[in-house]
Amino acid sequence: MFPGARTDPDDARYVIIGAPFDATTSFLPGARFGPGRIRKFAHALEGYDRRTDQDVSELGVGDVGDVEAGADPASVVEYLQSTLTGHVLNERVPILLGGEHTVSVAGVRATEPDVFVSIDAHLDLRDRYRGQHYSHATVTRRALETVEEAVIVGARSGSRAEWERTTSADVTLIAPEEAASWVATYDAPIYLSVDIDAIDPAYAPATGTPAPYGLEPAIARDIIATLAPTAVGFDVVEVTDRDAGQTATLAASLVRRFICDHAQAHG
Ligand code: MN
Ligand code: MN
Repeated sequence: MFPGARTDPDDARYVIIGAPFDATTSFLPGARFGPGRIRKFAHALEGYDRRTDQDVSELGVGDVGDVEAGADPASVVEYLQSTLTGHVLNERVPILLGGEHTVSVAGVRATEPDVFVSIDAHLDLRDRYRGQHYSHATVTRRALETVEEAVIVGARSGSRAEWERTTSADVTLIAPEEAASWVATYDAPIYLSVDIDAIDPAYAPATGTPAPYGLEPAIARDIIATLAPTAVGFDVVEVTDRDAGQTATLAASLVRRFICDHAQAHG
């Protein structure tokens, strides 16, 4: 369980759900271990958050464990979406721990935001990937079927066709070099997704598709703090077990950042 959380989500404001899905991973597997790994290394962090002067245990965080994540991406997305929708109807903000990025599609569909903000090294704008409609490489494309705008922060990798897709009015790109000075706030509800490979692999090596020349961790942290107040859902995905724990510790810290800044803004 995530430290500071409780197992009964009944009157929780935030619900943490693990989605250990790892079926469309195309390079290094291990995202199935992400949720457990993030919870384990979250114990390295203090419950008290100095920045917002709050303790995570006082913020109404529930942790309902992991969903069953089989091999068929369409059924996993559908099942996860229905689970998340139940929590959204009970006015809980869903916080997904991946699993590969595919699970974010369920988060977007359950929360129905106007904007999908994806902090990611990759565009994930393929329409299909290796024959799959639902894949870690098609996430942003699928999200665009629900949202009006996708913002991809830290993007540096994609196919020619994906880069061409970014020229449409519904896609905004923030390059890694621009991320530090990017200040955006949205009045409209956003869904905030953190593909951990957006962070430079020197800091976050345990991920399925590492991409050099990435973000400094503190830049991602500050973007999350800024965007959390208008977010209706959040996830951290693509964390694997192939390191000494530094990637999961960072992921846990970003989850904590989201919860504390969201809670502070919503009293
Ligand atoms: Mn991704
Ligand atoms: Mn990625």
